[in-house]
Amino acid sequence: MDERQTVAAASQERASELRKLPSVATLLQADELAPFVTTMHHDTLVRTIQRVLAESREAILAGEPAPSHHELIARVQHQLQVLFTPKLRPVINATGVILHTNLGRAPLSEDAAIAMAEAARFYTPLELELETGRRGGRMRELATLLRELTGAEAALVVNNNAAAVLLVLSALCAGRDVIVSRGQAVEIGGGFRIPDVLAQSGARLVEVGTTNRTYVRDYAAAIRPETVAILSVHWSNFRIVGFTVQPTLSELAELAHQHGLWLIADLGSGALLDTARYGLAHEPMVQEELAAGADLVCFSGDKLLGGPQAGIIVGRHDLVQRVAAHPLARAVRADKTTLAGLAATLRHYLRGEAEQKIPIWRMMSIPVEALEQRCQTWQHALGAAVAAEVVPSEAAVGGGSLPGSTLPSWALAIPESTARARGMSLDALAAALRKNNPPVVARLEEHRLMFDARTVLPEQDTQLIAILRRTFSV
Ligand SMILES: *Cc1c(COP(=O)(O)O)cnc(C)c1O
Repeated sequence: MDERQTVAAASQERASELRKLPSVATLLQADELAPFVTTMHHDTLVRTIQRVLAESREAILAGEPAPSHHELIARVQHQLQVLFTPKLRPVINATGVILHTNLGRAPLSEDAAIAMAEAARFYTPLELELETGRRGGRMRELATLLRELTGAEAALVVNNNAAAVLLVLSALCAGRDVIVSRGQAVEIGGGFRIPDVLAQSGARLVEVGTTNRTYVRDYAAAIRPETVAILSVHWSNFRIVGFTVQPTLSELAELAHQHGLWLIADLGSGALLDTARYGLAHEPMVQEELAAGADLVCFSGDKLLGGPQAGIIVGRHDLVQRVAAHPLARAVRADKTTLAGLAATLRHYLRGEAEQKIPIWRMMSIPVEALEQRCQTWQHALGAAVAAEVVPSEAAVGGGSLPGSTLPSWALAIPESTARARGMSLDALAAALRKNNPPVVARLEEHRLMFDARTVLPEQDTQLIAILRRTFSV
């Protein structure tokens, strides 16, 4: 055969393979799909079949043989299954990273979760004063709680801290100068860059000092009539160590107030409790920043606060009012479930029970011996046949908090040899664990897979043990 004949033969073969593909109507009548025909939206079923057929057609044109009828049905079933399987299911976090951004940051307390579910399922007096029957502000409950806990005059809750910072700058600083240290004109995680946020707000960024050293006199020299505020940004997820200088917040407050400027602090995590109590570095606390003279402090609801995703703005009453009146405030407002969950979380602090009730604080405060014991229980459940070891580990706070600061912990370690003995690489073992319900996310180290007890919720222990036993067939 010459080249032309070969091409013609190939195209003929593809045409004949294409003819083997059944019609949509034929597949719709397949017995295996009957359960879907009665339980799901007809159009979705038809579109799924059409998509599977289109993908098969493309594969055939690329030189693959036509899939069997059975295979086609299996693909349709798989796609429908994916469509109906919720992605945001519980996961067992054995990574040892407490605020794991990829795993949704802070798991909530039971009270907070119940409050959110109830606010979601029922009507709730979000903007109604039950005493008078009149319309009321949706922020009243939270403002009261936040004033009580932080000493702030006023508070506003929005969708997240990125929105809080953007809103504050838009409402108070648009068209004016905002002074930021070069060491703080930084990127905090995906898509949040201080220079970009300032530009978006319409404020002018005036960078002062150098990356590692900025003095009060650098700020002072940049003040001009157009200046409206000094912005202080917490180094949430990185550190600059060694030859460094940053003025304290009270020094900045003094300078700002001498010149009639506002001091705005983007705290990021915004702890209400002292992380130093657990041997961690001291994360700046909201109360401290306000006491040091910050006029407004912005922080996240789902980092060290341990609540739902939210951005919290606390500080001077007149400034909070101006921020709340800006049109963007309406665009980034928090919903009723967030407000309910946040209020329930804050009440744990008010009752002095944060360490017992808020999962991330429970994880930080649990004694290391208790973690070792849990790992031993896991090891025992696996039995001697699985050569798992109980080893010291280092847990991290994560989620843009306390970079480089770790908590001593314990982990169950599966050595590479144990996985190999079962014909698996460590990667394959980690992948297999992620396929469970609930998926288990462990920490892969060089020659072992680690299950850090600090971040596994105690109520998930039984499930974890069952999954490990199944994985190792014991
Ligand atoms: C995390 C963080 C943000 C963004 O907060 P989100 O709640 O994730 O929107 C902003 N600034 C700082 C300093 C942060 O650490």
